[in-house]
Amino acid sequence: MKTDILMQFAQALAGGAIRVIDLSQALDSDTAIIQLPPEFGRTWPFRLEEISRYDARGPAWYWNNFSCGEHTGTHFDAPVHWVSGKDHAGNATDSIPVEKFIAPACVIDVSREAAEDADFLLTPRRVEAWEAEHGRIDAGSWLLMRTDWSRRRGPQFANMKEDGSHVPGPHPDLVPFLARERDVIGFGSEGVGTDAGQAFRFDPPFPCHSIMHGSNKFGLASLTNLDRLPPKGAILLTTPLKIVNGSGSPCRVLALVG
Ligand code: MN
Repeated sequence: MKTDILMQFAQALAGGAIRVIDLSQALDSDTAIIQLPPEFGRTWPFRLEEISRYDARGPAWYWNNFSCGEHTGTHFDAPVHWVSGKDHAGNATDSIPVEKFIAPACVIDVSREAAEDADFLLTPRRVEAWEAEHGRIDAGSWLLMRTDWSRRRGPQFANMKEDGSHVPGPHPDLVPFLARERDVIGFGSEGVGTDAGQAFRFDPPFPCHSIMHGSNKFGLASLTNLDRLPPKGAILLTTPLKIVNGSGSPCRVLALVG
């Protein structure tokens, strides 16, 4: 019976047989934001403004206003974010079918490679080697790239040099492989965005945006705690705010691990 499945689920949560892992970075004014060349529009950093705190402005209550761009901190990328995804039905934060916000995850650990090479790119060959060990990536799964990049603080996170940012990401050949041959639901990264820091030089530029969103698939950026997930078997909860026609949203990404 359906109720039995949900009761078993509730008991497994209460008893600790299923654990909940927070894959989100804390959000404050230090949260890194995407830096674009000056000719482009700018995203706002996260900002918190106190309205009242049990004081004359509100004697019994504490609350804040906040402002930020949609793509701030740990966040969800919707297909409408990219021009290639603009015409899909159900492509924005309010119109994506909600079932898609609950999906299994595959986690590929390339932390050793990323520590040695800030420009490390995850290739189809590397993913196929992972599949030989853990089984094929199931359609509808997230592919999460563990780099341990989330442990970096301050300027080390964006790792900006004179020639741009140097952060690991997916190889241009990997994105069509994941989108078309594996039919993933999306790609998740520990970096400030889903693409590599040097992806503006790729052909096509920013493939994890142009091809993923062009395929009506999603992105998750600035993830953390990926070292606490198994290679396969975690379930992700990735609900963005229901912004009307939103291109993305800060997101409290949670993983259920058995
Ligand atoms: Mn984004």
